[in-house]
Amino acid sequence: MNASILVVGGNSFLTTFIALVQQVAAFTVEVASDPNEAMPLIQAQQPDLLVMQAEQPDTLELCQQIKDQSRLAWIYCILVANWGGVAALGNPPAQLDLESKLKALDSKAKALESGADACLNLALDQFDSESFEELQTRSLNDAIAKQKRLFCAQIRAGLRRVQNHRELMRTNDLLSAIALSDPLTELNNRRAFEWELPRQIHNSRAREMPISLIMLDVDFFKTINDSYGHLVGDRALQLLSARLRHNLRFYDTPFRYGGEEFVVILSDTGFQEAGLIAQRLCRLMANQPFNISDTLNLTITVSVGAASLLDSDDTKGISLLERADRNLLKAKSLGRNRVVSEEGE
Ligand code: GH3
Ligand code: MG
Ligand code: MG
Repeated sequence: MNASILVVGGNSFLTTFIALVQQVAAFTVEVASDPNEAMPLIQAQQPDLLVMQAEQPDTLELCQQIKDQSRLAWIYCILVANWGGVAALGNPPAQLDLESKLKALDSKAKALESGADACLNLALDQFDSESFEELQTRSLNDAIAKQKRLFCAQIRAGLRRVQNHRELMRTNDLLSAIALSDPLTELNNRRAFEWELPRQIHNSRAREMPISLIMLDVDFFKTINDSYGHLVGDRALQLLSARLRHNLRFYDTPFRYGGEEFVVILSDTGFQEAGLIAQRLCRLMANQPFNISDTLNLTITVSVGAASLLDSDDTKGISLLERADRNLLKAKSLGRNRVVSEEGE
């Protein structure tokens, strides 16, 4: 994985930490000089990791904003502070006064409360200092090496977490696709329909736009199975689904409701138009035979019920679906291969 990292801080902070992260892995490194400059970059590029200079104003707010957005919350945020400066580096550390220690603890707690995944207190002003050569006491050397090691280990820990997250998301996408799609026809399945219909009803009411449903049922489908076998029946369902899918507007969504029954959500479509679309689909199925194999063409017809959303309909779409279904049953009882789109509750 080619991971990406955004480093946010002043000039010397950037110089120090860009050099360090590049020791850990082949990162794509972006930089921003402060949290306000960082936010648009984060929105646009969604880096895997973020390394921020804790002392900059607005750093905690940036953390909070990232963690508040589910789209970004998985980004691993590391705050690097320098509370206590060089005094924290001694080995053993020079005694910080109690007040400085408490202040550092308080700052760390605030950083984690704001959503930071890690907060390191490093004496970064010593990392690349020119006076470093002069300060070659073994204890200082050791302390700097240990702090660099701690920082690199924290970056690796962040990377592992982001990689795990990405893997989980990939698996999740795959499982969702499997859970919501019908393997035979590759249309969305009934579970997807039951999830999508309330969502579309909500949108339609919020935007004051109409919405309609059409329900199709293949006529005498059992006879096809009985006459030619279930494999031919399966093939017929596949061809019919493909014909349905290819003849809808791109914002209309077809679903396999079950067996040889299909339902289509027609967005931004009122009663009259839904009736016309239902008529067109009905003719489309009947007028051209389905080419099952080189030696078998089948004429297949469908019966269709259409209905449009009324103010009195429930939010889940149950009463809307019942009306479409009632109209479909009427189409069947009137002789099949036809549309019924009677309005009313
Ligand atoms: P009607 O015109 O009244 O709708 O008659 P019909 O024969 O289409 O209706 P019926 O409900 O009697 O039969 C539907 C058949 O669809 C029965 C069932 O075995 C078949 N079926 C359902 N799902 C599948 C499938 O995935 N593959 C195949 N081959 N057949 C299926
Ligand atoms: Mg049926
Ligand atoms: Mg049928």
